[in-house]
Amino acid sequence: MNCQTCGRSLTTDEAGLNYKLIARDTKVFLCKTHLAEYFKVSESVLDQKIAQFKRQGCLLFSTGEAADSETAQRSEENSQ
Ligand SMILES: [Zn+2]
Repeated sequence: MNCQTCGRSLTTDEAGLNYKLIARDTKVFLCKTHLAEYFKVSESVLDQKIAQFKRQGCLLFSTGEAADSETAQRSEENSQ
């Protein structure tokens, strides 16, 4: 999915923000820059929102990236 305003492709986190802040079934997607403009907040506010939703374990966001790479590394060690 891409930003409706500038056409930039969205990250998982940005898409998650659209679902959370606009509507769970939103058809409109905006990148972080244009979400910030839409809600008249700064992008850092949206970063805080992303962090907050991740802490809540919201599955709409790319959680546990570090844990995933750790697991991959471990299974690699095991195979040797
Ligand atoms: Zn945009």
